[in-house]
Amino acid sequence: MSRPPKPDNEEERLAALHSVDILDSAPERAFDDLVRIAAAICGVPMAAVTLIDRDRQWFKARVGMDHPDPSLDTSFCAHTILNPTTMTVVPDATRDARFADNPLVTAEHGIRFYAGAPLVTTEGLALGALCLVDETPRELTPFQLDALDALSRQVAQLLELRRLSQKLGHQLRERVWYEQQMQVYQQQLEQQNADLSEQTKTDPLTGLPNRRAFAAALDTAMRKAAQSGDPLAVAVLDVDHFKTVNDLHGHDEGDRVLVALGDMLRSQAAGRGLAARHGGEEFVILMPGATLEEARLQCEFMRQSVGLLPVGLPVSVSIGVAARQRDDSAEAMFRRADQALYEAKRTGRDRVVAAPG
Ligand code: GH3
Ligand code: MG
Ligand code: MG
Repeated sequence: MSRPPKPDNEEERLAALHSVDILDSAPERAFDDLVRIAAAICGVPMAAVTLIDRDRQWFKARVGMDHPDPSLDTSFCAHTILNPTTMTVVPDATRDARFADNPLVTAEHGIRFYAGAPLVTTEGLALGALCLVDETPRELTPFQLDALDALSRQVAQLLELRRLSQKLGHQLRERVWYEQQMQVYQQQLEQQNADLSEQTKTDPLTGLPNRRAFAAALDTAMRKAAQSGDPLAVAVLDVDHFKTVNDLHGHDEGDRVLVALGDMLRSQAAGRGLAARHGGEEFVILMPGATLEEARLQCEFMRQSVGLLPVGLPVSVSIGVAARQRDDSAEAMFRRADQALYEAKRTGRDRVVAAPG
């Protein structure tokens, strides 16, 4: 018996076979039908669709064969795939050197007739065969050979479709996965952006808006006031002798004072203006709708509230306040408030000075 050699392009052929992902799959009507039609047209009792794996022969569909041998050594179809372009027809296996001593032939009721049409991929790789088997020697008519050939192309077409749908399914799953990943990244990015934008606007120690956020709010308020003619005031507040607080009580204690002061300013400005940390121990308050005198009174109230802060040490602040004038700019108004603060410091601290209107 001549054991069938491996085709030259065996690895490529196996890769194509495995990409169909059909080995060990359940029986399917479409394959069963083609096998039955082949047996009927050619008038043989046994027919099958075989696929030649690395070490075995696997049957996708069969009629008339109860327990087909999976061994490659005795496989007729393993010979058929060696010639992808032609059918292998064995009228009488006892007279064929390749099969005469094959156990499937020498057995009782052994194989005599075999015809196999290779199942060829679009790349020309033979994955298996559509085969016919009989226990008596026979010949096929040209019409039957033609039919077997045509049916084998139908089987090959089914395999090709299956390979295509595997590929599409795989691409679809990959696409869904990528889309999900993209969504996750997008959400992370948006969250990071939101965090960043919050960080650029907020002072981390007190949680108050920072200098940058205040500048933007001041600009907006100035434009609104210029349009409506409503009054607008701004105050600059600086803790007195804060360096001494740090020196005497430590930097952490200084931080706690700043946080308590920030909380107080936030609650006083709530609903009517905006308090922000301008930097260091300096705070700013935006007071829309307040005239210079109203703003001064509010600042006076703040100054007194600072003295009542429960921080366990004496704290005072100096405040300079200025109100918007006709054709004023944000910078000019702020500068006047800063000069008023300087004046409050110069004249003894713990006081509010209003910039002359
Ligand atoms: P003045 O009444 O003239 O304002 O005196 P001052 O000591 O408050 O002013 P000075 O500018 O000399 O010192 C400000 C101090 O504020 C120095 C600095 O270490 C302290 N400071 C600035 N930022 C912080 C902060 O975030 N935490 C603490 N604990 N201290 C700060
Ligand atoms: Mg100070
Ligand atoms: Mg200062």
